[in-house]
Amino acid sequence: MVTVDSITDLSQVSPVLLRKYIDGCHKLHQHDLVDAYGHISVRLSTSNFMMSKYLAPALVASIEDLVIYNIEDAQPVKPDAPRGFSERFIHSEVYKAYPAVQSVVHSHSPEVVPFSISTVPLSACFHMAGFLGTAVPVWDAASVYKDYPSDNQDMLVRNTRLASSLAKALGENGQVKHPVVLMRGHGMVVTSESLEMCIFNSIYTQQNARVQRSAMSLGGAVKYFTEREAHDTGTTTGMGAVKPWPLWEKEVANKTMYHNQLSAAEV
Ligand SMILES: [Zn+2]
Repeated sequence: MVTVDSITDLSQVSPVLLRKYIDGCHKLHQHDLVDAYGHISVRLSTSNFMMSKYLAPALVASIEDLVIYNIEDAQPVKPDAPRGFSERFIHSEVYKAYPAVQSVVHSHSPEVVPFSISTVPLSACFHMAGFLGTAVPVWDAASVYKDYPSDNQDMLVRNTRLASSLAKALGENGQVKHPVVLMRGHGMVVTSESLEMCIFNSIYTQQNARVQRSAMSLGGAVKYFTEREAHDTGTTTGMGAVKPWPLWEKEVANKTMYHNQLSAAEV
């Protein structure tokens, strides 16, 4: 949990976090959570967060690729910052609404998107994804479009109005109730209280979607977790999330397409 009020320069950010963030971008790509699109951010202080510039996550490699933003308005702290993602408002509004959230992933995973346009909810049915609960909410941009019919309806979350509506679907009164929310015809937003767990939740949300669709294709009834089972499996995997991290680290370190100029191997 960050307690610092403001961080305005990357020199104030721990090198360990900078390295971990870049690795995190690569891990999301390695696991097909992002392609040229999608992004991850990390909270730096009560009023700032960091994410990469407008660049495919697999290509993020150095401190020059990173930008610090204000949570208040999703604008870069430095006026000469490189171009950022148009959907960075997703991140700023989630941090604004939920002080405990430390990291946010936005993914267009095609494994997950079908559940955002179907009447079948994405539900925990695989023991690595109990954190999903018994039904993952679907946020619909149309719920905002109806009040602003002249707005562009391209499904992208490019302003505070859309992003604050999306953030509300995660919980209430500043408390996250659903760490994952789907976005109709678009993707999902994943949150957690650490960068590692945000990546963990993203990877296993996608795997649960794959398992659920496979089970549904068999044609019989699918047995989902009860609320208690979802809660207890979520608690157990949450305690053991440290296990896959070194494996994922090795996977990206061994791929020549990923470069992390802050890793010991490249210094
Ligand atoms: Zn998007």
